[in-house]
Amino acid sequence: MPLFRRDPFGRAWVLLSPERGLDASDFGSVPLAAPMSPLSPGGGSSVGAEVAAVRPVTSGVDSPDWRMRALVHPAGMVSPKPHAVDAGEGLFTQLPALGYHELIVEHPDARERLETMNPSHLTEVLRFYRDRLEVAAARPGVRHMQLTRNFGRAAGALYDHPYGQVLAVPVTDRWVGEEKQVAAEHHQVHGTCLFCDVLSQELKLRERVVTENEAFVAFAPYASKTPFETWILPRQHVSSYVGVAANSLPQLADILQVQVKGLSDALDSPPYNLTLHTDVTVGQPDFHWHIEILPRLTNQAGFDWGTGFFVNPTLPEDAVRFLREAVALQEVMK
Ligand SMILES: [Zn+2]
Ligand SMILES: [Zn+2]
Repeated sequence: MPLFRRDPFGRAWVLLSPERGLDASDFGSVPLAAPMSPLSPGGGSSVGAEVAAVRPVTSGVDSPDWRMRALVHPAGMVSPKPHAVDAGEGLFTQLPALGYHELIVEHPDARERLETMNPSHLTEVLRFYRDRLEVAAARPGVRHMQLTRNFGRAAGALYDHPYGQVLAVPVTDRWVGEEKQVAAEHHQVHGTCLFCDVLSQELKLRERVVTENEAFVAFAPYASKTPFETWILPRQHVSSYVGVAANSLPQLADILQVQVKGLSDALDSPPYNLTLHTDVTVGQPDFHWHIEILPRLTNQAGFDWGTGFFVNPTLPEDAVRFLREAVALQEVMK
């Protein structure tokens, strides 16, 4: 039977309607990438200037033997140059879209995927993201920053090459803003972190946990907005990814690979969006950084946008059964 679930991290309700059934994906599978892309070493002039890179110490700046690098986003949505706009009038407010938008090329090989990368390379990538977010957090005027990774053109990827993007802006986005407000209210009432509390409840119930290791837990959220949505939460309370313990990064690489490979095996390489929600500052008691992975399987119809309800035809508990099977199969194949 259909049911409404209140999102414990937001102010909205999700309508879970399993009788509608999940049709074959509107978006198909992400095809294998061509061996070369504009982001490949020596790949073309259309990409932005390099701002940071990891390459052998003996190599010069701009030499093509980088292992990963950050570029000025070639289609940057915001501008780092101070520019004036009028403040708006009456009830209308505007301000300059001042900010920083970097594109992070994760690997020289265009055909690599998050789940196929050498685990030590992925660990280095996760450290590089941490460093780029630390730089972003220290920049003037930054109040919100986000790491996003789009996989597949249908999920908004510009390139068929493993890459992510870091955006740092002076205003907080709607979803993280709501999470922060709800978590702050929870902290005021209970004196505890909402994310830590939900995590301990998920670990007690064990109905939606997909996989876990010493440092991280992957689970399908109670009020999943879309079919097969999963979150990865660190067990340790840290408000900003900048404060992530360096020795936990190999475990983050591991759970990411297990989770994304499980998704890919269970659903035949769907496009997905991965976002990392983080505070700008380390040490906040009421926010807890986390990763959300949203596969693109259904289109948001007018009803969803019109009402603000997300209508999800797959119960998270059902999605988890498929994902657990796919994860168990990985263990067998090892
Ligand atoms: Zn916490
Ligand atoms: Zn979030």
